[in-house]
Amino acid sequence: MKTLEEIKSECASCQKCPLCESRTNSVFGVGVPNAEIMLIGEAPGENEDLTGVPFVGRAGKLLDKVLEEAGFSREKNIFIANMLKCRPPKNRDPLPSEVDLCVEYLKKQIEAINPKVIVLVGRISAMYFLGKDFKMTRQHGNAYYQEGRLWYPIFHPAAILRNMNQLPLMQEDIMKLRKMVDEIK
Ligand code: SF4
Repeated sequence: MKTLEEIKSECASCQKCPLCESRTNSVFGVGVPNAEIMLIGEAPGENEDLTGVPFVGRAGKLLDKVLEEAGFSREKNIFIANMLKCRPPKNRDPLPSEVDLCVEYLKKQIEAINPKVIVLVGRISAMYFLGKDFKMTRQHGNAYYQEGRLWYPIFHPAAILRNMNQLPLMQEDIMKLRKMVDEIK
């Protein structure tokens, strides 16, 4: 099994798909290397591409705030990453071919971190791991047991920013996550 540092270095020099041509930085992920909770979003945006850190724009700040309200943070107890390590142009949805090529890194990351709970942030990662019929409005905040761990979909913070009426739903889901994590300890 590869270490996180080894996988990170592979991502930094990866040229497997055309997204390598337009990236400033590959965005590997940050957090606690053996975290019990791993969050997986879709792909880096502009701020993430510029800094090499996931979820650092307005949406990322909102996510951090909601997580912190429930006692979660990148410094203390979670690891946060994306399915794609390089930014798709104009923040378009990832192409299936890009996901197929890049998700191998994510799978190695999951193996190295070995989290008990994987939080799927937004419909793209939820559909990939929970099936193409996944519907966020119906299924957010439900835990699914597969491959030896829990998979837990939540709204993407960028979607919440577009409709702040849904913020309480996200806050409730993260509070439920807190309870679930405390119960499985
Ligand atoms: S998106 Fe993934 S597969 Fe494509 S170049 Fe970046 S690291 Fe490689």
